[in-house]
Amino acid sequence: MTEKAERLKTLILGSGPAGYTAAIYAARADLKPLLYTGMEPGGQLTTTTDVDNFPGYPKGIDGPTMMVELQQQAERFGTEVRIGMATAVDFSDEVGGIHKVTIDGSKIIEAEAVIISTGATAKYLNLPSEQRLRGGGVSACAVCDGFFYKGQDVAIVGGGDTAAEEASYLANICNKVTMLVRKDYMRASKAMQHRVESLPNIDLRYNTEVEEVMGDQVVEGLRIFNNKTGEKEEIAITGFFVAIGHKPNTDIFKGQLEMDDTGYIITEAKSTKTTKPGVFASGDVQDKVYRQAVTAAGTGCMAALDAERYLASVETREEVTQ
Ligand code: NDP
Repeated sequence: MTEKAERLKTLILGSGPAGYTAAIYAARADLKPLLYTGMEPGGQLTTTTDVDNFPGYPKGIDGPTMMVELQQQAERFGTEVRIGMATAVDFSDEVGGIHKVTIDGSKIIEAEAVIISTGATAKYLNLPSEQRLRGGGVSACAVCDGFFYKGQDVAIVGGGDTAAEEASYLANICNKVTMLVRKDYMRASKAMQHRVESLPNIDLRYNTEVEEVMGDQVVEGLRIFNNKTGEKEEIAITGFFVAIGHKPNTDIFKGQLEMDDTGYIITEAKSTKTTKPGVFASGDVQDKVYRQAVTAAGTGCMAALDAERYLASVETREEVTQ
C-alpha cells in the first residue's frame, strides 16, 4: 500500500563517503537532509580493512570504523539517517520543481533537492558456474570472505588495483593464491604490481581466463585456459575471488538523467549538477576515473554546496515573482 508522501528540502541517496560528506555539509547549511543508506549501509568501504590513504589518519583507519564515524559526524549536525533503498524516481524538469523518490517500493519522498551518491557494485564474470556458486566459495570481496579460506588454496581474477590489493591480502592468510590476468600485463599501479610479484605464494598467470568454476555445492576448482595458446588446465581451489571492476548503481535513474555508455551519471563540468535542475550526483556513481574515498568525499561536499546554491536561487526567484 502506498503511504502518504513526505515532503522535505534535501534528500541524499547513499551512505558511502560521498553521501555522508554531502550530509555533513547539507546539515551544517540547514538544508535538513534526510539520508537513505541503500542496501549496503556505509558503502564499499565497509568491505575493506585498512584505509591508509585518507588524509588525516596517519596510522590508517579500518573502513567500517571510518563509515560509522562519518555517520555520527553527519548526525551530529542534524542529518536524519534511515535504512532504505530508493526503488524509483520521478525527477522534475522545472527549476524549483519537486522531485519524487520511491523508497522500498512504497514510501514516497518529495524533495526540493536530491543528491545521488549510490556508488557502484562489483562486477562478475557471469559464467553460469560462477553465479551458481556465489555464496559457495565465489566472492567479490576478498577482505570480507578471505578469512574463510585461511590456509587454503584460492584464485583471484582481475589485473587492476583491486585484484592486486586483494591478492596481496589473500596471500597473507591463504596457502596459495593463483592470480589470473587476461592480458599480458596488469592494469594495476606499478607499486601494486611489485607487491604482487614479490609475494612467493602468488602464482601470477597472464593471458589466462576462466572457463568454468568447478564444484556442486561449493567451489572445488577452476578450469582455466591460456588465451594465446588455447592450453587448458584444471586447478584445485576452495575459494574464487572476482575483482574485475564495478558497475555504477544507476539503473533506477535510466531515462531520467543523462549517463555515459557505461551507466555513470554525467555531471556538468566542475560541478555535481546533473541534467535535471535540483538533482546532483557525487561519488563513484559519477566517477569512473578516480573512485577513491577522498575524491568521493570531495564531490559529496561539492554536491551539498551546489544544492545549497540551487535552493537559495529558487527561493530568490520565488520572492521576486511574489
Ligand atoms: P579496473 O577497472 O581498474 O580493473 C579491472 C580489471 O579486471 C582489469 O585488469 C580488467 O582487465 C579485468 N577484467 C575486467 N573484466 C574482466 C573479465 N570479464 N575477465 C577477466 N578480467 C576482467 O577495476 P579495479 O576495481 O581494479 O579498480 C577500479 C579503480 O579503483 C581504479 O581506478 C583503481 O586504480 C582504483 N583502486 C585504487 C586502489 C588504491 O589506490 N588503493 C585500490 C583499488 C582500486 P583488462 O585490463 O584486460 O581490461
